[in-house]
Amino acid sequence: MNDLHPDLARVVVSTDQIQSRVKELADQISTDFADRETLYIIGILKGAFIFLADLTRHLRVPHNVDFMALSSYGKTTSSGAVRILMDLREPVEGQHLIIVEDIVDTGRTLDYLYRVLKGRKPASLHSCVLIRKQRDNLNIPIDYLGFDIPDVWVVGYGLDFADKHRTLPYIAELKRE
Ligand code: 5GP
Repeated sequence: MNDLHPDLARVVVSTDQIQSRVKELADQISTDFADRETLYIIGILKGAFIFLADLTRHLRVPHNVDFMALSSYGKTTSSGAVRILMDLREPVEGQHLIIVEDIVDTGRTLDYLYRVLKGRKPASLHSCVLIRKQRDNLNIPIDYLGFDIPDVWVVGYGLDFADKHRTLPYIAELKRE
């Protein structure tokens, strides 16, 4: 790509690849949940908002959408803690939940979310993640996965670096400097 922003090293997942995979994921979820009651889709802000918007527009099963915002600190240390900045608007007991997350790196955020949401006694709990980094992560189960990528910092399609590059239609590797 000739017109790549100078901050970016290369495109890791192209617009076409994202669009067709997101449709496949939505089709798979629609098939798996065809005979269930309303799905409760939980988007994790800010990063998942674009993925969630595209995914839900392809769903063919009834669904509600809500959001959570989380913050984590000490990502580089083994004690990295996760905190809820913004919670769901209502109890989710007895609901079929799907967490929609942009990217899994160490896996701590998703692991924390599983534990918090399981504690709220849903009927079922699944995860749909667009990107997983190939690194030494927690190896937590992901039910619907878009892509595995190398362990590099990526931006675009919801993912940012200091709030930049979030609305690129593709996912690109940020230059290291
Ligand atoms: P984890 O808890 O799995 O280590 O990290 C998950 C969170 O870290 C993601 O929700 C995202 O906010 C952030 N993150 C991890 N890797 C990247 C990346 O390559 N690019 C961006 N923009 N965010 C990332």
